Amino acid sequence: MKLLIIGGVAGGATAAARARRLSETAEITLLERGPYVSFANCGLPYFLSGDIAKRSQLLLQTPEGFDGRYGVKVHLRTEALEIDRTAKRVRARTTDETGVVSEVWFAYDQLILAQGGNPILPPLPGADAPHAFKLWTVPDMDRIHAFIKDKGPKTAVVAGGGFIGLEMAEAFHARGLKVTVVELAPQIMITMDREFAERAKSHLQEHGVTIETGVGLKAVLADSHEVELSDGRKLPADLVLFSVGVRPELTLVKQAGLTLGESGGLLVSDTLQTSDPSIWAAGDMVEVLQRVSGKRVRVPLAGPANRQGRIAATNAVAAMTGKKATMKYQGALGTAIVKLFDATAASTGLSEKAARDAGFDVGVAIIHKDHHAGYYPGGQQLTLKLVYDKKTSRLLGAQGFGLEGVDKRIDVAATALLGKLTLDDLAELDLAYAPPYSSANDPLNLAAFVAQNDVSGFSPLITAEQAKAAFRAETHLVLDVRNLGEYAQGNVPGSLNIPVDELRGRLAEVPHDKVLFVHCKIGFRGHLAARILIENGYTQVFNITGGYLSMKGVFYG
Ligand code: FAD
Repeated sequence: MKLLIIGGVAGGATAAARARRLSETAEITLLERGPYVSFANCGLPYFLSGDIAKRSQLLLQTPEGFDGRYGVKVHLRTEALEIDRTAKRVRARTTDETGVVSEVWFAYDQLILAQGGNPILPPLPGADAPHAFKLWTVPDMDRIHAFIKDKGPKTAVVAGGGFIGLEMAEAFHARGLKVTVVELAPQIMITMDREFAERAKSHLQEHGVTIETGVGLKAVLADSHEVELSDGRKLPADLVLFSVGVRPELTLVKQAGLTLGESGGLLVSDTLQTSDPSIWAAGDMVEVLQRVSGKRVRVPLAGPANRQGRIAATNAVAAMTGKKATMKYQGALGTAIVKLFDATAASTGLSEKAARDAGFDVGVAIIHKDHHAGYYPGGQQLTLKLVYDKKTSRLLGAQGFGLEGVDKRIDVAATALLGKLTLDDLAELDLAYAPPYSSANDPLNLAAFVAQNDVSGFSPLITAEQAKAAFRAETHLVLDVRNLGEYAQGNVPGSLNIPVDELRGRLAEVPHDKVLFVHCKIGFRGHLAARILIENGYTQVFNITGGYLSMKGVFYG
């Protein structure tokens, strides 16, 4: 029985290895159009930054290694050009190292597609200049590495403020270039909410990276080594990197007439079967269920691609032996993480915006807390945001930013999302604690307490954006309960400042007929103030979640 796999990196290589573990008799062939099989594309930025010293560390397998260990025949530089579904065969063109081209038909009983995606290259004047790059493959990486070594560029412009663009901004910075990131959207990291994008932007700027948001690239000016922006400004750019997104590779599946899905990816069932029962698919090219919203989406990330490769192989091998496909892919959360110099930003599930778009009755709780016990040396402030459904108290998503401890909280939140946990469950999570690691109430527990208090009405929350949008001077008052020194350093114009410890004695200054938007620096004193006010008969009290720190970019700055 013949299993043919197209695409030999995350999804395809995983599928090949898994298929062999399931069947010693299957004839497994893998076609890869590039010169390498199973390379670590996620590691490419870290070779360019110098963090990964040896290029060879990125090359996880060779055709010989694959054959030796798994008995998988790998054909490199071999591009599949046509699927003949009736005859069950694939036409492929091989270009050998000397440039000689040959075409061969490969027969299959079952076919797995793991072709990934392609980086989007905007059709701008100058985009094909020799100093303009994309980063998707090892040869792309080699070109950038050689350019930096040979030409000694001093300035770089990265078009696109997504995770790869930001990793590359850091890599160029590490190589001594002065870097500007240009992002068309009003914020970088558009899969995360505004306050995290703001924190990341400030952090990158503190490390010397310039960030331009809300402006696009209009042209690459090769002669003057500049780029022109959509607002007419010019920036120096000895090197330009396009990192503006990825499109699924669908040329072959369109030619083969396989059904596409509503988000533009290849449609697959929960067993990862395409509209042709003998063809399975995995990775960046498919669309899958978003586990929280239930919508069909594309999640171009390595984790889902690897796990899908394993499932597609399991079901394809079962089909080869006439068995039913039983292994299911239940959907992705889109959990993602990025290193920004010494900081980390991460998210899982739905952002606040995505949750609102999906029609949930959204609640938001933001906390800023030391990542471990405050009295133990080395505590670093961690910002956590929970997004939840106020009707059911179910967790919908989480985001984090900080120097330490972000990955752990977001991974626990991802597990909670998979288990459809509620805020009550999260509040009760028994997490590992000793002072060097966490607090007796882990930041995740604490965020859940804050959210519980919101849902129950014990201490209602409002986001900075909601407060700003609702605010009318005649009917609303911003009550700042920080101390006088903090207030003097910066405040919302028109706000009333009564430090929380004086509030009980100064209630006469707080009007009963106004909606009160209370805030402190991070949220805790705002919560205490909200409780004092509510206990004293004030009925329209909201604590601005995350406090003054989360109001940046909305009420000030
Ligand atoms: P790929 O791994 O892209 O493999 C597809 C392969 O199919 C390609 O090698 C391609 O040449 C081949 N192919 C396509 N068409 C044909 C054809 N017709 N014939 C033969 N071969 C074909 N994800 C994360 O989760 N975390 C990260 O930190 C992260 N960092 C990244 C950094 C970079 C620079 C890049 C480029 C990606 C990163 N990703 C990251 C994304 C992750 O690498 C992808 O989601 C994952 O590799 C997708 O796996 P895949 O198997 O679907 O596609």
